[in-house]
Amino acid sequence: MIAKRDYYEILGVDRNASASEIKAAYRKLALKYHPDRNPGDKASEESFKEAAEAYEVLHDPQKRNIYDQYGHQGIEGTGFSGFGGFDDIFSSFGDIFEDFFGFRTTGSRTRVQRGADLRYNLNLSFMEAAFGKDMEINIEKMEVCSTCNGNACKPGTQPENCRPCGGTGQVSRSQGFFTVRTTCPTCRGHGQSIPHPCSHCNGTGQVMVSKKVSVKIPAGVDSGSRLRLTGEGEAGIYGGPSGDLYVFISVEPHEFFKRNNTDVIYRIPISFIQAALGDKIKVPTLNNEKKLEIPKGTQPGDILRFPGLGIPSLRNGSRGDQIMQIVINTPTNLSKKQEELLREFAKLESSKLSTKLKNIFKNTNTTASG
Ligand SMILES: [Zn+2]
Ligand SMILES: [Zn+2]
Repeated sequence: MIAKRDYYEILGVDRNASASEIKAAYRKLALKYHPDRNPGDKASEESFKEAAEAYEVLHDPQKRNIYDQYGHQGIEGTGFSGFGGFDDIFSSFGDIFEDFFGFRTTGSRTRVQRGADLRYNLNLSFMEAAFGKDMEINIEKMEVCSTCNGNACKPGTQPENCRPCGGTGQVSRSQGFFTVRTTCPTCRGHGQSIPHPCSHCNGTGQVMVSKKVSVKIPAGVDSGSRLRLTGEGEAGIYGGPSGDLYVFISVEPHEFFKRNNTDVIYRIPISFIQAALGDKIKVPTLNNEKKLEIPKGTQPGDILRFPGLGIPSLRNGSRGDQIMQIVINTPTNLSKKQEELLREFAKLESSKLSTKLKNIFKNTNTTASG
């Protein structure tokens, strides 16, 4: 038995590569060795199968775990492995190819295909999300090869009709008295072959580029908001339309402010003296500091409001409120004098309270002796 290559080595990734790194590595190899792009090339076919097998194991956390512990033997023992041929690969990877190439490789195919959509995760600060921002993001994506304009042929050459099927994409096979027509195995139904592949893109018609894309973040986005940039996804195949780029927003928490839709929540700690006597204090808002009047006799949990100083609504731009929740702090480290005064205060309070209690007992006719 021929020794098998290590799956990580095949994909060219680290042993601790993330799922997305593994996917990206496989995608690259699959594009490079895809039989549509290398018709009749046995070495490419082998590489394609090898990469598919490695990916089949490494993209599945359970299989990957077994492989990490026991190597190829572990995988073979579970019956996970083994590809009969391309049809096996395509049937087990239909979804992935749809993902990668923007089309299903099983069933009927046409040459022109829409490019794949891309996802970009963008972290914004609380303020950036509240007020919006024009920014540039860097994305890696497949673009049409500028050397061959995407037709995968060396400049000056053309794709040729596939010889075995004469360009029809189908071949006839005699079976007893019948003639059966099946998809041409050489061109897989495309009807064309590329005798001289473009060297810039290795005959894939596409190259990986890193591109700056301008993104206008509207004021009021929140975690979970999704922006769609039409046509900024990957290039289509053989002149097909590009996919879209989706920017997924997540917003970092703020040190003081919390958000509830378009309202901004701010907790204000005040002393019980301020709560009892009332006060005028300065409070931060999203724009600047603002004076707030604490009314006399404010209670814990009371809510005060600055209308229109919240976050703009994505729908119509009108701003929510800043809502202030009162938190009352009990003073510590009192001086002797302060303590004396508070005791004095307490005496007055308790005489007030005992009168009140007496009244309650009177009204409820209790027999308690006093
Ligand atoms: Zn090219
Ligand atoms: Zn053919």
